Amino acid sequence: MAEKFQVVVIGGGPGGYVCAIRLAQLGLKTACIESRGILGGTCLNIGCIPSKFLLNYSENFHKAKNFSKMGIEVGEVKLNLDKMMQNKNNAVTDLTKGIEFLFKKNKVTYFKGIGSFNSANKISILDKRNKQTIIEAEKTIVSTGSDPVSLPGIDFDEKKILSSTGALSLSSVPKKMVVVGGGYIGLEMGSVWSRLGTEVHVVEFLDHITPGMDKEISKEFMKILIKQGLNFHLETKVESIKKKGNGVTIHTADKQGKKNIYQSDVVLISVGRKPNTKHLKLKQVGVKLDKKGKVKVDKNFQTNIPNIYAIGDVIEGPMLAHKAEEEGIAIAELIAGQSGHVNYDVIPGVVYTTPELAYVGKTEEQLKNENRSYKVGKFPFMANSRAKAINETEGFVKILADDKTDRVLGVHMIGSHAGEMIAEMALAMEFGASSEDIARTCHAHPTFSEAIKEAALSVDKRQIHS
Ligand SMILES: Cc1cc2nc3c(=O)[nH]c(=O)nc-3n(C[C@H](O)[C@H](O)[C@H](O)COP(=O)(O)OP(=O)(O)OC[C@H]3O[C@@H](n4cnc5c(N)ncnc54)[C@H](O)[C@@H]3O)c2cc1C
Repeated sequence: MAEKFQVVVIGGGPGGYVCAIRLAQLGLKTACIESRGILGGTCLNIGCIPSKFLLNYSENFHKAKNFSKMGIEVGEVKLNLDKMMQNKNNAVTDLTKGIEFLFKKNKVTYFKGIGSFNSANKISILDKRNKQTIIEAEKTIVSTGSDPVSLPGIDFDEKKILSSTGALSLSSVPKKMVVVGGGYIGLEMGSVWSRLGTEVHVVEFLDHITPGMDKEISKEFMKILIKQGLNFHLETKVESIKKKGNGVTIHTADKQGKKNIYQSDVVLISVGRKPNTKHLKLKQVGVKLDKKGKVKVDKNFQTNIPNIYAIGDVIEGPMLAHKAEEEGIAIAELIAGQSGHVNYDVIPGVVYTTPELAYVGKTEEQLKNENRSYKVGKFPFMANSRAKAINETEGFVKILADDKTDRVLGVHMIGSHAGEMIAEMALAMEFGASSEDIARTCHAHPTFSEAIKEAALSVDKRQIHS
């Protein structure tokens, strides 16, 4: 007899595991199936966490090499890449084990294996030893995430032709790396290896980096990254990538048709991610996908098959861990009869470079396209006393507010601690704050967050310190 569950979650990433825990908290008999054999998904294993680990360690290495400029004399600073990678792996293991503990604590049944639909209510689990288990599910939530996309005809070997996964685990520091794609993952990984000594070239098809983000911030970001030593080749298309000897040859053409050839030790292809539905046998049960291969859902995450739902990277929306988590909680609460909800207007995003880039809400370009009248308030960290005191003065805060109501529509910042400070703005937007509300909120002195208050004051041209 197949074991019966009220809800089965396929995929143990931030969408799936958070959803499973919330379902169990709400008293539903829940199982979660994960094919990797380790919980945490892309985020914990090959995404957010290892990349942030390497960003932090490489930044410390870079800082340590420059201590003498601050008047701190230390001995020769040397890189031990093996140890750095080992520490990264240990941090990942600790976190993934933590989720297994949370599953036990909340009584979520955990199956290791590939989940697929036998029918709308019967799920098959195929483990590593090819042993098949069938379970019954009243409802199933697909949370199988995404995989990196390559360029047509080019396969990742994760040694010379890398996806982000390979770029997180290189065993030596390459002399040269070409990053194809100027999105946040490519720039984060490019920054890591640049700080560790690699000559990094970013090739981007568009005329700007970080597509979709506020263009003024993107421009400032690129200027800062150039100062740090990254090289950019915009409006440039990769025509071919071939492995040659110990490296790779990359042929490109720019907008004017001028061809270029790069010899590089490695190439990181970072041009996006695609939904992962490959093992699910969705066709068998009739679940519809959209043109991009994402699982089609309605506003309650329900597919066209009433007892099958989907969340996270495998559905429409920004491919971000916290978006997947919010959806996981919302669907669990909806299934339990509560009123789960995700506010897609207030999903923050952060790029964890130095300095950080963070945003929430609409960009100036979006507001222009929507023909909305808006006011802009800006404040540079150069005029912020804390930033001056610790010599981290790059960047600025930009607030976009409705021209008539003053309601905050979007906040974009680049600067130290931007990734933490954006939470204040997300909360403000959730509460429908006006720029005046933010301007009248007392911010501690001296803090970076005073730049937010000043940017809010600047919406009505009454900032004090610039
Ligand atoms: C290098 C990198 C850095 C990133 N940094 C950030 C960041 O800083 N902040 C941020 O918010 N996001 C970041 N992301 C994106 C983030 O990792 C994803 O948005 C997030 O993991 C999506 O969660 P998910 O649960 O939808 O899918 P996933 O995390 O991809 O999890 C899906 C899980 O389902 C499993 N699975 C797939 N098919 C089956 C099956 N048939 N049966 C059983 N299990 C299956 C997979 O093994 C996987 O573990 C980063 C991604 C990368 C690659």
